[in-house]
Formats: sequence, structure tokens, C-alpha cells
Amino acid sequence: MLLGISSTYGFMNMAAEMGLAILAGSIGLAFANIDKITKFKGAGFEAEMCKTVIHKPTGIVHKLAKDGKTTGCGVNVQTHPEAWAASTEKVTCNHSGCKNDT
Ligand SMILES: [Zn+2]
Repeated sequence: MLLGISSTYGFMNMAAEMGLAILAGSIGLAFANIDKITKFKGAGFEAEMCKTVIHKPTGIVHKLAKDGKTTGCGVNVQTHPEAWAASTEKVTCNHSGCKNDT
């Protein structure tokens, strides 16, 4: 009787372990995907952070818009490309579109 219970318990334990292994596998898979997503997002975020441009004549750092052609406040950087340089400094422009992104 006791043996029967323990072997049933043993079988259930094995089944539980197998289930756990399957679960762990699917969690691992999910984590692998999450890792890719966060890495992707992280890279995108990093690129976003680096997208600031300094207006050399004024020394004001603007945020570069996603199209890479205008600043966050709407100045076309391609009109005078020589006046602009890529920057990693903090945005100092006070206009909306630039300043509200820290
Ligand atoms: Zn600006």
C-alpha cells in the first residue's frame, strides 16, 4: 500500500518534472524572444539618444527628428548642413519638440 502510494507519487513527480521541463523550455524560448526584443529596443533607444545635433554658430544642441532632416523644433538642418554637427550632448534648445525629450 505504502509502496503503491510512493510509486504513484513518484510517477506524478516525474510527470510534474516533465511538465516543468516543458514549461521551462517554453519560458526559455519566450525569454530568448524577449531578449531579442529588448536588445532591439535597446539599440533603437541608443540610436535615438545619439540623435542630437549642435548648431555650431549658436552652440545650441537640438534633438534631431526621426527623418534626420529637421530638428525637433522644426529647423531644416539640410539648408545649412555646414552649421550643424552630430552631438551626443544634452539638448539645450528650449523650443518644444527639442526640450521635452530628455
Ligand atoms: Zn531645437
